[in-house]
Amino acid sequence: MDLKTIMLPGIEPARPVVIAGPCSAESEKQVLFTAHAVAARGIKIFRSGIWKPRTKPGGFEGIGTAGFAWLQQVKQETGMYVTTEVANKGHVAEALKAGIDLLWIGARTSANPFAVQEIADALQGADIPVLIKNPINPDLELWIGAIERIYGAGIRRIGVIHRGFSSYDKKTYRNPPMWHIPIELRRRIPNLVMFCDPSHIAGNRDRISVLSQQAMDLQFDGLMIETHYQPDSAWSDATQQLTPEMLASLLEQLVIRSADKPSQSLLELRYRIDQIDENLLEFLARRMQLSDELGKYKKAHGMPILQTTRYNELIEQRAEYGETIDLDPDFVQEIMKAIHEESIRRQMSAMD
Ligand code: PEP
Ligand code: MN
Repeated sequence: MDLKTIMLPGIEPARPVVIAGPCSAESEKQVLFTAHAVAARGIKIFRSGIWKPRTKPGGFEGIGTAGFAWLQQVKQETGMYVTTEVANKGHVAEALKAGIDLLWIGARTSANPFAVQEIADALQGADIPVLIKNPINPDLELWIGAIERIYGAGIRRIGVIHRGFSSYDKKTYRNPPMWHIPIELRRRIPNLVMFCDPSHIAGNRDRISVLSQQAMDLQFDGLMIETHYQPDSAWSDATQQLTPEMLASLLEQLVIRSADKPSQSLLELRYRIDQIDENLLEFLARRMQLSDELGKYKKAHGMPILQTTRYNELIEQRAEYGETIDLDPDFVQEIMKAIHEESIRRQMSAMD
């Protein structure tokens, strides 16, 4: 893809490029107080939702176009660029008319190809950077599809925002990060500008700084962090918004490690990891050869391939053993399930 930088004039591409501002625009006072406070801390791009996708009806669904006047005031008074979420063609038309500098497509929208195509069609001929959040479901192809649709509309300044993926289990995260997905996206489209939105991953204030550091260590270009001058009384996402002071101290504490000159010890660690990965693969290949033999044996003795008790025992024993050598039992179970699945496939083809 022939992508261009999304960085607007005057914005240093130095990591992290920060987008901050409230989940939603609520009132002129809330928008302007927050904007002045983040601008005073060096933020150059201000976010604010004008239309809010809510899981259930009855919540605050956004202030609507009335909020654009406040965002225009933010631009005039602070010099920051402003960005908002668009979810349909009407939003695109309104946002372009209101002079919004950057658009973002939300996670519920990028999960829907019809909606993304409608937005892409409405963007034909426009020259505006667009940031595409990952779809709520962990589907990299769907995310790439959304990028391709926007690209197909002639937009070249495209970036993405990783905001985690919906999950039934919300114990640790509101939306677990599943870092391997954005990492794979970077491998597939290397010149894509990548933001991380730790606010929607975390769902609460506590984990945002740890997630931001992880995003920096994974070479993300920027962060989008929900910030509100009075987070506790926010009309949406109150538990996860930071105050401008908290945002400033988070940014101060971030350690930005450069990937340009990996040190000798890093190279050594990587080398050792590469070696171990090779050994792991060789062991797996040997295990699969045994599966082939097992398939042939079962065929010769008229035995079925799957024996559920053996499968359950195997998964449990391995998880228990893993724990004794400091491996997370859930992790071991996941690996064993994948190995077992492949083993069944091999046994079946050995039987044929
Ligand atoms: C938001 O940014 O406030 C938002 C609704 O995010 P997401 O689309 O990631 O849920
Ligand atoms: Mn939000």
